Amino acid sequence: LNAIQFDGELKLVRDAPIPRRTGEPLVQVLAAGICSTDLEIVKGYAGFKGTLGHEFVGRVIESNDPALFGKRVAGEINCGCGACGHCRSGDQRHCPTRTVLGIKNRDGAFAEYLSLPETNLVRVPDVISDEEAVFIEPLAAALHILDQTEVEPSTQVAIIGDGKLAQLIVIALVQTRCRMTVIGKHDEKLRLAKRNAPDACLLRSAQLCAEHYGRFDCVVEASGSAAGLETALKLARPAGTIVLKSTHVGETSFDASAIVVNELNIVGSRCGRLSNAIDFISRFKPNLRNLISERLSLDQGLTGFALAENSSSMKVILQVA
Ligand SMILES: [Zn+2]
Ligand SMILES: [Zn+2]
Repeated sequence: LNAIQFDGELKLVRDAPIPRRTGEPLVQVLAAGICSTDLEIVKGYAGFKGTLGHEFVGRVIESNDPALFGKRVAGEINCGCGACGHCRSGDQRHCPTRTVLGIKNRDGAFAEYLSLPETNLVRVPDVISDEEAVFIEPLAAALHILDQTEVEPSTQVAIIGDGKLAQLIVIALVQTRCRMTVIGKHDEKLRLAKRNAPDACLLRSAQLCAEHYGRFDCVVEASGSAAGLETALKLARPAGTIVLKSTHVGETSFDASAIVVNELNIVGSRCGRLSNAIDFISRFKPNLRNLISERLSLDQGLTGFALAENSSSMKVILQVA
């Protein structure tokens, strides 16, 4: 079977075994998206080896639960031990011994098949296309911001970044009717943000100056760059909130005294609930197709990674079946 694997080097493997795990349904992958986290893994983030990919839509082809058999599904990517305090309270995202699809000790979605526990699979309603469904996992991560901090119509929000995740955050937050400023480096991507959030202010990061500092109630750092946190610390108002969304390799240096003096709330934010994203897509029908820059086959996966690395690209989708 074909799979895009990483073992210190990214490769297309032709003879990967079917990833069976005892008691888990087998899912035929229909389509999968390349995420910035995948690009970071290739640079060494998370020290992962195996089949990459965690944003997918698939069809259940083997399952002990007849209700799941043959159904189109998305998947919660964190798989907990089921026994620790986090797992028992229903949040396997923080299980210390978790495996994570395509990220930690579990083969991922850039393959013809994948294995996930039954409880991780969420049915995708017919009103959501395969292409839209690939965005369920990253959109859930974007919507998770609203679980962690309150955003109201009067809230001044700055989103740092104009890439794939930042665009989904724009889509997620536009429904709050908050006062949104998107800060990016690419005119084309900023224009795309404007299409999804017509009332948003757009700002090139090079234009940032003292008049923008200390103004924002909530700053979402989604630039994927080490400099993003430093910028966020300047933009947040005293007692404001900074939500960190990017995962990038390496250490970040910043002036921690700004956090103390301005009594800032720093919130780390990772995965969200897939059902929230499914409800959101069904209800608001956001234009997710705009975010797709390339559609390729699994065989063309290495090309897909090269294209995804390009700063002008947005979501690269691998159509697997
Ligand atoms: Zn991702
Ligand atoms: Zn656990």
